[in-house]
Amino acid sequence: ASIFSDVPQAPPDAIFKLTAAYKADTYDKKVNLGVGAYRDDDGKPWVLPSVKMAKRALLENEDIDHEYLGITGLNEFTSSAAKLILGSSSEAISEKRVSSVQTISGTGANHLGAVFLNKFYPFDKAGGQRQIYISNPTWANHKAIFNSVGIKPVDYPWYDAKTVGLDFEGLTKTLKEAPKQSVFLLHACAHNPTGVDPTKEQWKQIADLFEQQGHYAFFDCAYQGFASGNLDEDAYSVRLFIERRTIPVLVCQSFAKNAGLYGERIGALHIVSTTPERAAAVTSQLSVIQRSEISNPPAFGARIVTMILNEPKLWDQWQKDVTTMADRIISMRKSLHSLLVEKYKTPAPGGNWDHILKQIGMFTFLGLNEKQCALIVNEGHIYMTSNSRISMAGLTTKNVEYVASWIDKAAR
Ligand code: PMP
Repeated sequence: ASIFSDVPQAPPDAIFKLTAAYKADTYDKKVNLGVGAYRDDDGKPWVLPSVKMAKRALLENEDIDHEYLGITGLNEFTSSAAKLILGSSSEAISEKRVSSVQTISGTGANHLGAVFLNKFYPFDKAGGQRQIYISNPTWANHKAIFNSVGIKPVDYPWYDAKTVGLDFEGLTKTLKEAPKQSVFLLHACAHNPTGVDPTKEQWKQIADLFEQQGHYAFFDCAYQGFASGNLDEDAYSVRLFIERRTIPVLVCQSFAKNAGLYGERIGALHIVSTTPERAAAVTSQLSVIQRSEISNPPAFGARIVTMILNEPKLWDQWQKDVTTMADRIISMRKSLHSLLVEKYKTPAPGGNWDHILKQIGMFTFLGLNEKQCALIVNEGHIYMTSNSRISMAGLTTKNVEYVASWIDKAAR
């Protein structure tokens, strides 16, 4: 017998399983609303014009070599990525208090942040539990990432099924009742899977509670630019917390969505410290961890993003590209909303369908139950997760009416 004969079969990843089922389906009207990747109005992957410009320039420069990057990545990339998320006039940056490391996209940033906290966070002062508070629900991989390094994920309330909106009371109650100095994971903008974000006023109140309670803010920012179409606007929460100076913060950053560089695996982890000396020590430890895990991050995506962030022509084009993506998603929200409300007069789970317009970013949480979702998938050939999350990027002017007709059938 093989030494691995006792290895049990693991279940397939829910999202990637959905994509496989979609691909195998031969129905001509099938729609994939599962995966969180941007599609154009023909349902095709979109290579951003700014990315095409950068690739062309890289191709022309035959002198670019294929040596290893440094352990913490391409310096021009990490420093400009830090400015993008923290702001070009960030005091944390000018005071050299930020440790920035290039990572394997947002997933790698979350993982590196998790390993670092597991090694160095004073959990003994935070109620003695090696745990992180994550929103209920959250990106499914958060649980897996923290479990795999030995930090226990515990839920805090986020989504209120009754209002199909934010459970602000539940959230603030948990912030007040958690042991002081607890670690909380926050989605910087465009919460996945719910699309439910706090208002600016609510973010201020959340920041007040972090200050009072000494909590640690673990920001995951996978959709900067995708929420509003404006990169600065979408960094509001992160900058607010860091400008307070009293809240300890780290930020996971991904260029998968906002630069359409899903497969290049380009991202960064930024940890903000109180002094440049602390930041240098943190960077040195991140280097040690990174060395044992991946040695050096990959170069291609880092070079593309560096050019986009630093060359004025590419930068201008990128602003347009981000707006193109955000605007198309917002226009799909309007279409779906008006079809359900005006054409089909579909009964809504929370009393109305306004949440389709209000929710932010790539996803909408329809608020339908599992049985209703199953009908949409099995009979409508519209692929979505059983929690009623749909990717707005999968809707097009050609399929939105078909999708609305099946939401209508399921909701009745
Ligand atoms: N965090 C959240 C909340 C996400 O939705 C995603 C992408 N689905 C990521 C992190 C990381 O994605 P990637 O590793 O592709 O950057």
